[in-house]
Amino acid sequence: MEKPVYLDYSATTPVDPEVLDTMLPYFSEKFGNASSIHVKGKEARLAVEEAREKVAGLINASSAEEIIFTSGGTEADNMAISGTAAFSKDFGNHIVVTNIEHHAVFETCHHLEKQGFEVTFVPAEPDGIVDAEKIRQAVTDETILISTIYANNEIGTIQPVKDIAAIAMEYGIYSHTDAVQAISRENIDVKELGVDMLSLTAHKFYGPKGIGALYIRQGSQLTPIIYGGGQERGLRSGTESVPLIVGFGKAAEIAKRDMEAEIKRLKPLRDRLVEGVMQSIEGVLLNGSMEKRLPNNANFCFEGCAIEKTGPKEKPEDYFSMSWELNKHGICASAGAACTAAGVTPSHVLIALGRTVEQAQGALRFSLGKWTTEADIDKALEELPKLINRLREEKKAQA
Ligand SMILES: *Cc1c(COP(=O)(O)O)cnc(C)c1O
Repeated sequence: MEKPVYLDYSATTPVDPEVLDTMLPYFSEKFGNASSIHVKGKEARLAVEEAREKVAGLINASSAEEIIFTSGGTEADNMAISGTAAFSKDFGNHIVVTNIEHHAVFETCHHLEKQGFEVTFVPAEPDGIVDAEKIRQAVTDETILISTIYANNEIGTIQPVKDIAAIAMEYGIYSHTDAVQAISRENIDVKELGVDMLSLTAHKFYGPKGIGALYIRQGSQLTPIIYGGGQERGLRSGTESVPLIVGFGKAAEIAKRDMEAEIKRLKPLRDRLVEGVMQSIEGVLLNGSMEKRLPNNANFCFEGCAIEKTGPKEKPEDYFSMSWELNKHGICASAGAACTAAGVTPSHVLIALGRTVEQAQGALRFSLGKWTTEADIDKALEELPKLINRLREEKKAQA
């Protein structure tokens, strides 16, 4: 089979060969436990601390100590929200988030609701951006934390995180942002941003899977969610995964070096895709603001495509999925609906924008990255009209 065109960099990215090379010795000869006192331990510790500096440097943290390594973005989000809730529970029981958060934030909030916390989900505007003033209006005497996704993972819209952090500061409330999608696609400076906590993960920007971090501003306090040997300043116990941390550090170094050029390269490719789709296909809606948006994201609803198809639950390909249909045309992208164990649920983000369930079922997210070429975009522009026509014909035949 021909190599598929990969336009799903927001789901995950391949590990940069430079990153992989840097990691490899830490699986073999440099295998030490970073907590050991002997020479093998020192070697590992040095590598971990060097990587911490690089991750801190990528977001302009004041000190490397503000970086706590976790198993990824999900754990960083859980730690920020559950950890703050546990630490600050005597000061209040209310949390403010948006209604376009990643599941890692959403589900943590739902879990906290069961523990007696109250959560306000501030709705995004139809352009996929939350109004900071509406965040302010949601704050009560009980509010202990405001958490806002930096750039939405589905539609790429960028939130006014700096304004929201300023509001949090004004009321003496902790602020957190899930910046997983924005890292390397936006220049992020935590000092300028003013947030207390920020989540990152390596695998969304050419690092390995299973490693991330929570930036915690000096002076911010939270209760750990994992207990044990007291690694990571007691905030995240567990033997440090030295190879993954080293890879994360290298990915951060490369991102810092290449970000500006990469953003400049991606934007015209993304615009070529958006313009091409809008011109060649009728009944298309672009989801989210075109201006305040990540340079690598395009997300569309194709009207009249959500055909009914059900099959045995064990076989996801028998569910109707835009992603699976597009895959048959040699292109990997994400659908606006997730096939979960429970079935096909339309994206809460698209619904939050005011799209109907049917529109949301006809959604596709294209996310570009380091190895995306003009030829990839042209292939997508060639295949997409064919797919949409086919689905619309099938739907008509079904009716
Ligand atoms: C991918 C993603 C996560 C989860 O990160 P993992 O490292 O995969 O756990 C969290 N938030 C956003 C916005 C993401 O895109």
